[in-house]
Amino acid sequence: MTAAATPSSPLPSDTPVCSGCATVSEQVREGHPWCDVCGWYLVYDPDHSDWTSFAERKYRRRAADYERRVTASAEQVHRASAALRDRVPDGWRVSACQHGDGAIHTVDIRPPTGTIDATACLTPPDDDGGWHVRVHNRAQRIDFPLYRAGGARAASFASPGDALDAAVNALRVEIAGATTRR
Ligand SMILES: [Zn+2]
Repeated sequence: MTAAATPSSPLPSDTPVCSGCATVSEQVREGHPWCDVCGWYLVYDPDHSDWTSFAERKYRRRAADYERRVTASAEQVHRASAALRDRVPDGWRVSACQHGDGAIHTVDIRPPTGTIDATACLTPPDDDGGWHVRVHNRAQRIDFPLYRAGGARAASFASPGDALDAAVNALRVEIAGATTRR
């Protein structure tokens, strides 16, 4: 007996079974299998080895992209934190953080104890950007990103060191403001 004599079972991808309702599609419209139950075209998703709607595939890809970015951010933050600990002024603290389960990792900068209850979060770049800085001033209950001078666009810093310097300056402004208000 040779393997050729055994009829090969069809791959699961050959039969368009809708991921939404588990019905086998028996119609083709506009060149795509059509699920009459859900009322949508079916497209094969190689990442999940199933047939699903275009909207669901798009959603899954976005979710996968976001997950990749979260994983990458953990590594970026880990690498940057060590370098930033050497650069931060005396008494200031640098820590690697993840604000919430599944969130993008950040480097958090805190001013010396006794100055102000505020944190600056440094978010690592995705594919096409730099580091971004957000200031959380819990004493004043305000939260804002750093912007380009005079611009409506968020400031983007090429290196974590540049982002750190901007974060320290912004927090010093908050500390000075708190001192004035006292
Ligand atoms: Zn369906």
